[in-house]
Amino acid sequence: MPWYKESDPYRIWISEIILQQTRVEQGWNYYINFIDKFPDVKTLAQTSEDYLLKQWEGLGYYSRARNLHKAAKLIVKEMNGIFPSEYDSVISLPGVGPYTAAAIMSFAYQKRYPVVDGNVLRVISRVFGIQELVDKKEGSSQVQQISKTIIDKANPAEYNQVIMNFGALQCNRNPNCTNCGLNNICFAHNNDQVQVLPRKTAKQKKQIKYFHFIDFIDTKSQNRFIRKRVEKGIWQGLYAFPLIQKEDNKAMTISELTNYVESEFGSKNELELVATMKKIHLLTHIRIEAIFYKIVGKHGTKRNGTDYISTNTLSEFAFPKLLDIYLQKYL
Ligand code: SF4
Repeated sequence: MPWYKESDPYRIWISEIILQQTRVEQGWNYYINFIDKFPDVKTLAQTSEDYLLKQWEGLGYYSRARNLHKAAKLIVKEMNGIFPSEYDSVISLPGVGPYTAAAIMSFAYQKRYPVVDGNVLRVISRVFGIQELVDKKEGSSQVQQISKTIIDKANPAEYNQVIMNFGALQCNRNPNCTNCGLNNICFAHNNDQVQVLPRKTAKQKKQIKYFHFIDFIDTKSQNRFIRKRVEKGIWQGLYAFPLIQKEDNKAMTISELTNYVESEFGSKNELELVATMKKIHLLTHIRIEAIFYKIVGKHGTKRNGTDYISTNTLSEFAFPKLLDIYLQKYL
């Protein structure tokens, strides 16, 4: 992995933020590209949000990129552009929680801060028999306390790496306990609780949203309308086609589409519905049931807060993955 044995706090920070919600195989190339485009804090602080989000496009959880940007600006403005080396300053950066701060402190500065990610939670709660919910305060602080006690004082970075790997490779969802070196001291193994621990709160059902995207293309210029999502929530800062949120996934009729395009863009002429695409897209807490409508017609004089852009320049804008999937088929 390109970040293996890395000791530069900036690079460790970037890799940890990328890996927060992303598998290693997916994050790998993004990390290499990110470091290439933004080799240091100052370069990251000076870039535009649009350019940054374009580099992040497809990785999801875009608040991570926005927080990296905010944090880089803060480091430049208030810390002379030097990445902080004290825990309190590191954890005060936007988007940095206890896990990331501990990773930076131990990997970059060899300080004794134990990392506690999902793998570590699983190992500690099984070996020590934590019965409280580990995603609640009491259970997680027990894990933190134990981690502080058992961390290797001489090699904290190595300890952190090893326990995370142990959770990922050995003490995983279906562990082979018979061949585990810790089975004689492991509470879960000795008390038949391997499949019970760690205890967590029941998962919430995903909220369903029905999104209808209008990809309206002007007959003559072949230009399209896109809109930057400025409101807080999913995809903030990214671009999307004008969007109608409805109560169901019933396809809009041509007359509904005509009315919409007329009110949004002042188009009075007949429209042609060239294609539709249905797609279900899952985010952590949301299931999006989307329908895209590719419509060609002559646009009027209105724009209603959209950018009217050439199809050739679409690739310069950062879109959510769902829209990228559509554009790959219907550009
Ligand atoms: S014995 Fe099983 S549950 Fe216990 S640490 Fe080893 S792999 Fe994990």
